[in-house]
This record gives sequence, C-alpha cells and structure tokens, in this order.
Amino acid sequence: MDILCFGEPMLEFNEQPDGRFLAGHGGDTSNCAVAARRSGARVGVLTHLGADAAGDSFMRLWKDEGIETGAVRRNAEAHTGVYFITHGPDGHSFSYLRKDSAASRIRPADIDPQVIAQAGVLHVSGITQAISDSSCDAVFAAMEAAREAGVQVSFDTNLRLKLWPLARARAVIHAAMEMADIALPGLEDAEVLTGLSDPDAIADFYLGLGAGVVALTLGAEGTLVATGERRDRVAAFPVEAVDATAAGDTFDGAFLAELRAGRDPFAAARYANAAAALSTRGYGAVAPMPKREAVEAFLNE
Ligand code: ADP
Repeated sequence: MDILCFGEPMLEFNEQPDGRFLAGHGGDTSNCAVAARRSGARVGVLTHLGADAAGDSFMRLWKDEGIETGAVRRNAEAHTGVYFITHGPDGHSFSYLRKDSAASRIRPADIDPQVIAQAGVLHVSGITQAISDSSCDAVFAAMEAAREAGVQVSFDTNLRLKLWPLARARAVIHAAMEMADIALPGLEDAEVLTGLSDPDAIADFYLGLGAGVVALTLGAEGTLVATGERRDRVAAFPVEAVDATAAGDTFDGAFLAELRAGRDPFAAARYANAAAALSTRGYGAVAPMPKREAVEAFLNE
C-alpha cells in the first residue's frame, strides 16, 4: 500500500448558498484518502467507525473508490464522526462537531505496528489529534511505529476545528512535526502555530523541526515547496472557486500520490495544485475531487 491515512472520517453537512445543507463524506482523513486514490495511489484508511448508517456509508464509499479497509474497525458503542460547516463571507467556518466518536476513542493499544509497516507513507492530520487525549496518544504511537518500520510520516497541521487551547495545539503539533518527514501545513494554521507570517520563515521553521519536504499551501496563491536543497513557489491555477472546504485535503492526497509515484516535490506540487483547484469548483468534499485523467487533461489545456 502506498499511503495509509489515519484519522477521523466525518459525515459532513455543508451549508449551501441557499441555506440548505448538503450531506456528504468528509473529515480530512477520508478526503485525503479519496484524493490520493483518484490520483492512482494504493490507499488504505486506519480508523474506527460507529456501527451505524454513517459508518456503513463510509465503508461503501471506500469500497467503491478501491480504498483498503482492512485497518478499519467498527465500534458498536460509539457513533461515526459528524460535523456541520457554515460559510461566512470570508470562506468556510466550522460550526459544530459531535465529540466522543468512535475514532476519538482509538487508543495506542489499537495501533498494530504490522499494519503500519505495510504502508509507504503514514499520513496524519492535526484534526485527529484534537479530538481526544487517547486518540492523540494513538497518533503518536502510530507515528513511532512508522518510524521504526522505516515508513515515511506525513503530517498536515489542520487546525480548523480549533478544539484545543492554542498553547496545547502548538505543543502537540510541533511534537508531531518533529516526527514528520513530509510537512503539509496550510498558511493560516502555520501562522497561528509558529507566530511567523513570512512563508519562507515558516518553511525554514518546519525544515528545522526535521521534515525533509515542506509543502506550505497558500490558498489561491499556490504552494511554497522547500527541501534542504531547494525552494520554489509553485503557482496555483486560477479557477472559479465556490467551495474550498477540502482543497487542502485534495492537495495532500494528490501530492502524496505523486511523491509515491516517484515525482519530485516541485512537480508533485504542480499536479496537486491543479487537483486542488479543480476540487474547489464544486460544493462538498468528495464529489468535486478529480481523478488523475481530469487533472492531466486540465494541465494540458
Ligand atoms: P487549507 O484548506 O489546508 O488551508 P489551502 O487553502 O492553502 O489549504 O488550499 C490548498 C491548495 O488548494 C492550495 O495550495 C491551492 O493549490 C489550492 N487552492 C485553494 N484555494 C484555491 C483557489 N481559490 N483557486 C485555486 N486554487 C486554490
């Protein structure tokens, strides 16, 4: 398997301009898995779902997409994650997340190092860590297992839900970044977490924590990619964006798929910027995520 995505899948209720809520699959773990799969990577999800209709629906989605579910467990005592998004004039804003989901109850003892060892990359997103203390510990256990097995660790800061006080979020996310080979922060999060505003200084900060590759996403400005040897701004693609809810997740999935396919980080970011741009043209997380053919056709336009 190329990429194992660990975190919390969430049923998403996404507000439309007319005030209705569009229901769909969301949560950055599932979103990233779908994006990577549609870009051709072999992908698995490591998580717990409730034994409920939302959990059934995620299992169907992943089967339909060709995503491996061998590391997914169902917990009859807990619900599948769920959240609501409303859109303010400046884009999207989180409104409500239901706590105590099955994924938030994952403990370190639930992490099987043999499952992790089968992956090329373990991808984790900060959102998972903010859900509960036990799932936070489980994230670190998974990252330790990955490092011990020589599996690369990829980490996205994703702070969107802001469930923790900043000092705690900062400490935990910096500790996670110290274990990451591939750092995928978004600029807004990174500014809050590092107290820096210059993208180059932020990239230096994450390189300093130990990442070999940093891809700092800058929204409609594209991405700053930095390695120890080289750095470049990789331009975004101008599109009529209507909903950037899962743009960062789409970027992550597409970027990791490209790295696994042997592309260098700068070429991978160009492809991932295109995939993410396409994903902003429709509402919801999964529905507008493009497949590889669509991204390549767009790049050749
Ligand atoms: P996050 O959601 O994690 O904050 P960003 O907003 O930085 O992530 O977006 C991730 C990527 O999505 C960007 O690097 C860019 O490639 C693409 N993207 C986001 N918004 C737009 C937009 N309005 N137009 C074109 N591309 C966009």
